[in-house]
Amino acid sequence: MLASRVRRACSLRSVEMLHLRRLSTVNDRTPPSAAPDASSPAGPPPVRVAITETAGRGVFTTRSIGSGELIHSAEPVVCHPSVDDLPAVCYSCLKALDGSEDRRTAAGVAFCGERCMGRSKGSFEVEMGIDFSAYHDYCRSHGLKYPLLVKRLACMVLAGETRVECLDVLQPAYLPMGMIVQIEEEFALLKRAFKAAGLMDERIAFLTKNWYTGILSRIRINAFRVEIIGRSYESLLSMAAASVEAETAVGNAVYMLPSFYNHDCDPNTHIIWLESAVARLKALREIQPGEELRICYIDASLGRDARRALLYQGFGFQCNCPRCLSGD
Ligand SMILES: [Zn+2]
Ligand SMILES: [Zn+2]
Repeated sequence: MLASRVRRACSLRSVEMLHLRRLSTVNDRTPPSAAPDASSPAGPPPVRVAITETAGRGVFTTRSIGSGELIHSAEPVVCHPSVDDLPAVCYSCLKALDGSEDRRTAAGVAFCGERCMGRSKGSFEVEMGIDFSAYHDYCRSHGLKYPLLVKRLACMVLAGETRVECLDVLQPAYLPMGMIVQIEEEFALLKRAFKAAGLMDERIAFLTKNWYTGILSRIRINAFRVEIIGRSYESLLSMAAASVEAETAVGNAVYMLPSFYNHDCDPNTHIIWLESAVARLKALREIQPGEELRICYIDASLGRDARRALLYQGFGFQCNCPRCLSGD
């Protein structure tokens, strides 16, 4: 969809969700406090989440920020490697594997080290005890990637690594009727896999159609394509040669605080991934105290009409940012 061009700073949201809408109404849930992520620079991040005049919630600075400054970093709530990258990246943090890992599991996936293996141990054990082949086949044949995130989240819930309602605070996408039918098929396959593994009914009581749909609708509109720039020189070359940007993504991830950043076609902030799925939010220019921080959800080098069409189709809003209004 997005041809390879020289991209201006952009923090690509997944834009596969054509026909979906990002509801621009103000969510009635209480905005979360900007709690520091584990890997943030010292102290809490200099941001707060507040209601904007036109775009629901947004992220604002609490002090001046210098150009190029790392504003904060964020660990994913959930992430998953792209199917094509499964053997090449850490199954937990998406870091590129250098081939020396002797920890490859029977399932053919590997972890980059003890830390990732340890923190994903519970959910990985749950996952390995279940035959997801029918679910995976369905996703592969329909070209779906988000169900992998839902599957991982369900395993994390079962392992006690996250809460059932962990994504509730995020904005859900509107799902058209045609998609609901497909989601019901996905859900039935996933539920069947858990049941066939002999898990007690009460343990998987959370796994309802409502839960599945709610999680998927939030993932669809809030997932980021993780593009790690710290890969090897060879992969950078192959990335440069890739004609379709999707080939450069090593996986998908959902974050909490970064999900509250609104869009601008000339953003003051962007997200980069240096070596793993930990997102780094960096200032693209000097930012004044109280200014809203905005990222670009799409390829900012696209022309105005293409950008606006993509944003409307993918996220359900008409972009009226200063750049669009200027006709650029
Ligand atoms: Zn790792
Ligand atoms: Zn715009």
